[in-house]
Amino acid sequence: MSRYWSPLVHGLTPYVPGEQPKLEHLVKLNTNENPYGPSPRALEAIQAATGSTLRLYPDPNCEALKATLATYLNVRADQVFVGNGSDEVLAHVFMALLNQDQPLWFPDITYSFYPVYCGLYGIQSKLVPLRVDFSICVEDYLPRTHDRAGGIIFPNPNAPTGCLLSLAAIERIVAGNPDVVVVVDEAYVDFGGDSAIPLVDRYPNLLVVQTFSKSRSLAGLRVGFAVGHPTLIEALERVKNSFNSYPLDRLAIAGAVASVQDEAYFQESCQKVVATRETLVAQMSRLGFDVLPSAANFIFARHSSFQATILAAALREQAIIVRHFRKPRIEQHLRITVGTDAQCGMLIEALARILGG
Ligand SMILES: *Cc1c(COP(=O)(O)O)cnc(C)c1O
Repeated sequence: MSRYWSPLVHGLTPYVPGEQPKLEHLVKLNTNENPYGPSPRALEAIQAATGSTLRLYPDPNCEALKATLATYLNVRADQVFVGNGSDEVLAHVFMALLNQDQPLWFPDITYSFYPVYCGLYGIQSKLVPLRVDFSICVEDYLPRTHDRAGGIIFPNPNAPTGCLLSLAAIERIVAGNPDVVVVVDEAYVDFGGDSAIPLVDRYPNLLVVQTFSKSRSLAGLRVGFAVGHPTLIEALERVKNSFNSYPLDRLAIAGAVASVQDEAYFQESCQKVVATRETLVAQMSRLGFDVLPSAANFIFARHSSFQATILAAALREQAIIVRHFRKPRIEQHLRITVGTDAQCGMLIEALARILGG
């Protein structure tokens, strides 16, 4: 009975994740999962960690994972925070760093969890419109006397557009906002962007968030992390230790460590996705789609004469699911995850049939 709900819960508008269908035969191109499995070494490590030690709590500080990430990223362990997927990391970031007197600034078209966290924590926000070509305009994020941000967050590459901002552009935003935290959500950076992590030593207001869900093909394991100045990390640890001492279980820690240690597998699967993406973009363009330049493992495309809802429904009838957002400016776009070559081939064939009538 909703009369038992707290006033906060009455006002929430929760995030709606992409469908996880029960049917197995579907070509699932709707939630940006990696079509290739995780590193076999990660799977072995998870199996090796599956035993009687599961009766014991995991390391609350995840020291092995932090040390492995710190070495890999060329930072210190006290610059690394880890969490149960980057969504949890982001939730702590919103509470610990972005809940300020001034509104949080983020693009009008971006990851739809940001407004949800604003609702959960009562954070005011300002939507900064992307340009007509869906790129982020750096000048729009530089403070003005009468319009100041309490914090800034955006994904790079952006979601669901796939558009990439250069490292130089990011540095201008970070350097131009020394009084507020700038969060760069790099969920897709391994598919074609430069990470801002090398900037964290110079900018104590920069926090970079990454995930194992996309490029490391471990969405089911739930591991994400943030890299930044130790003071920012300490704020996140304070919130985390006021919420859940053990957000990462033993299997997640073991699998994540082994994944980072298998660089060859990681590079190879990222390269396969990128190669397939380039083929897919060319084929979609030939079918009459406008495809935004993507640096991610998905593409964002609209057709010149067919409605997105019609296309999504017709694809679904052919057992292919893609993502469609009923939102201003992008209601005619489809977001399509880059699958295997075979899956993308099936998508192109299905679209050719649908468009050909
Ligand atoms: C997928 C995604 C995340 C969340 O990833 P998890 O680590 O699986 O929680 C965060 N930000 C963006 C932009 C994403 O697309």
